[in-house]
Amino acid sequence: MTKKREPSNAARWHGKPYHSFSDYLRDKYNCRVLKIPINAGLSCPNRDGAVGSSGCVFCPPDGSASPGMLASMTIPEQIATAKMNFKRSDAATKYIAYFQAFTNTYGPLTLLKQLYDLAAAQDDVIGLMIGTRPDCLPDAVLDLVCSYRRPGFELWLEIGMQSSHDKSLEFLRRGHTNGDTISAITRAAIRNIPVCVHLILGIPGETWNDMMATASLLQGLPVSGIKFHHLHIIRNTALAEIFDAGLMNPLTLRDYVSVLCDFIERISPDVTVHRLMGDREESSLVAPRWGLHKGTVHKAIEDEFRRRATHQGFLYDRQR
Ligand code: SF4
Repeated sequence: MTKKREPSNAARWHGKPYHSFSDYLRDKYNCRVLKIPINAGLSCPNRDGAVGSSGCVFCPPDGSASPGMLASMTIPEQIATAKMNFKRSDAATKYIAYFQAFTNTYGPLTLLKQLYDLAAAQDDVIGLMIGTRPDCLPDAVLDLVCSYRRPGFELWLEIGMQSSHDKSLEFLRRGHTNGDTISAITRAAIRNIPVCVHLILGIPGETWNDMMATASLLQGLPVSGIKFHHLHIIRNTALAEIFDAGLMNPLTLRDYVSVLCDFIERISPDVTVHRLMGDREESSLVAPRWGLHKGTVHKAIEDEFRRRATHQGFLYDRQR
């Protein structure tokens, strides 16, 4: 019989039932490290016609940019503005330039290098996070990203996996397959580039077994971080039309907490959890409205782990 894994990492998890990315950063750099979202003005093949022209079903016209991100500003201006706006920022704070909006490996290599170099050169920037699609990572781009690997520099590639099921990727109108995701993760791992995958829980048509199958697949992939999102409905998206037509229901808070804990129990304790839920400002959120109360949701997740007396990786060994 396989023994239950004790939370041997509990100390570095700071009492949380999962290994949060913010704790990972604080422990590694011994200071506050904040991410600065950047809109580099790049496009997306699922919008410009190369793969599709209407975008993913959940993606608003701004390419999922954070509120206030302005592509009209230069990257140094965006970083300087964000630093000023961070209320808790001080001289000891360090920053990671997070290329968030649209597809940040989609462009000529020389342009990508210019953009990454510019961000990495700003004062107190100690890392880069580059968000992209799995079908926009040819080897030459991965080689470029890999060139930023150096001691003391925090480098991450964020890959929009969303689901391991092609039927779900079709519903989401992603325009790539799970095979593309596995290929991108594997080729990034060959270059020792840490990968964080984005996942969505609550995709219409996905059963609990389907979601746990994605967790099982991830157990065998060289993934260092996971960003969880609930499928929320944002104004001016195709998903909002589907919702308005009464063709889908988002997960309730209770169901999301339950399935998220089931998932986290199955992932390796060595993986960092970068996010527990989607995040959107009130003015653009259609549903579910519980997504506006991040603190309540985080507490519900911790309470659920406490009730179960489990934690990240609790079922990890038994799945292998
Ligand atoms: S790949 Fe990203 S930017 Fe492009 S449509 Fe989908 S979510 Fe939006």
